Amino acid sequence: MLTQELTEKYQLVVGLEVHAQLATSSKLFAADASSFGAEANTQVSVITLGHPGTLPKLNLRALEYAVRMGLACGSQISRKSSFDRKNYFYPDLPKGYQITQDKEPICIGGKVTLTLEDGTEREIQLNRIHLEEDAGKLIHSSDREESWVDYNRAGTALIELVTEPCLCSAEESLVFLAEIRKMVMYLGICDGNMEEGSLRCDANVSVKLRGSETLGKKVEVKNMNSFRNLGRAIDFEYERQVGLLEVGQDIVSETRTFDADGGFTASMRTKEELNDYRYFPEPDLPPVILTEEWIEKVSAELPALPRDLYRKFIEVYGLPRYDAALLTETKEVSSWFEALCTHTIHYKAASNWMMGPIKSYLNETGTTYLNFPIGVAAIAQLIALVEDGQVSFSVASQKIFPELLLHPEVTPLAIAQSLNLIQESDAAFLLPLAKEVLLENAGKVAEYRSGKKGLLGFFMGELMKKSKGKADPKVATQLITELLAN
Ligand code: ADP
Ligand code: MG
Repeated sequence: MLTQELTEKYQLVVGLEVHAQLATSSKLFAADASSFGAEANTQVSVITLGHPGTLPKLNLRALEYAVRMGLACGSQISRKSSFDRKNYFYPDLPKGYQITQDKEPICIGGKVTLTLEDGTEREIQLNRIHLEEDAGKLIHSSDREESWVDYNRAGTALIELVTEPCLCSAEESLVFLAEIRKMVMYLGICDGNMEEGSLRCDANVSVKLRGSETLGKKVEVKNMNSFRNLGRAIDFEYERQVGLLEVGQDIVSETRTFDADGGFTASMRTKEELNDYRYFPEPDLPPVILTEEWIEKVSAELPALPRDLYRKFIEVYGLPRYDAALLTETKEVSSWFEALCTHTIHYKAASNWMMGPIKSYLNETGTTYLNFPIGVAAIAQLIALVEDGQVSFSVASQKIFPELLLHPEVTPLAIAQSLNLIQESDAAFLLPLAKEVLLENAGKVAEYRSGKKGLLGFFMGELMKKSKGKADPKVATQLITELLAN
């Protein structure tokens, strides 16, 4: 941990490069399947291998997905973009070059708005979003000399999203990555699965004197396959770089790898050893020209984004920030909430049901809203029963809800009636019972009247017993307090 003095002296600066694998069924320039987990080297065509005489052809769906992301980030969509070859040798790269976008990316600029833990909002500026193909995968084994190569992933479609160096903490970086993950999943362009590598992130980290305009030399950290490791790597680099500067050493511009077991970063290669990629325009692909009409069509079909729903849930439905954040975590949850809200105006109660009893049920059964047996109309009716004072929330959630799960075809009201759970809020029914309670406990009544107000709970408990648990607590409290006051 750095001392407070040092964190006040040095500002952390982070720029992220996020790769998202596009959820297209075929690759970026070939018809090979792009699904994860197939038997090694079964999804590899001659185009992917770059055999002489083969030609790449752009996957239109991948292009559309990249534009969706650009529109969602408010980027400028390039009317003309083009592809370049990035040349380098590595065994997972069968062609000896990667097709990417260098000079004319499909999307330029844009921003992503975040809400941090403490509620403050931050706008993260993007530099660009471009399309590129992925490499294959090397599989190393600790107990054998050989490594294997699987080219199934080679050529699959990626977007790379590059931020400006404007993130200033590990927390902000994590919230940013989480927001990107939510966005690509809402947009339906990437499954967001970090374990399978569908979403990956490199972090560029530097430090500078707080208040200074000049950025420090950056280090690029690779191989962080989880949110937690991204945070750990950034924090580690911050401390390491501050430590070096404090003893008068220079930061070396280099690429480092994160060791998850040890919790540290280690040098992979320095900038001087870096490849000269010899970028040049890809001769086998024409530039991509987009028409206004096509862009407008993609824009019109853009689904609601988590950020917009978050705002809507706060502003229109009056939910606390906490609820809005949880309910927009996935599209499935927010859609269900919105559907529920077409049947009820008790929005906070709807949120409580989803974050409480329903969530517990889904967690316990390992299911999702997609196969949740109860419909929104029935939950809305359950909410109405509670709001109208016909049943208490605990009766609704502990007695009616489990019954409803077993018999979703029966209405909550019918269940409440058949189980004799409807609360008695009729004063004509409750008043004689309340009077009985007071008559039977004359001693306690005297104590109450001489100041022992805590006895109210006792009288309530007695009335509940007499009404067989059906007294509406609000009405009952009012009746008893009035009787005791006389
Ligand atoms: P390079 O030429 O090394 O590829 P770029 O300028 O293309 O560097 O930036 C790559 C990424 O590094 C971007 O996400 C950018 O925001 C980030 N970056 C650039 N300079 C710094 C810096 N001094 N500190 C932190 N991140 C930086
Ligand atoms: Mg670069």
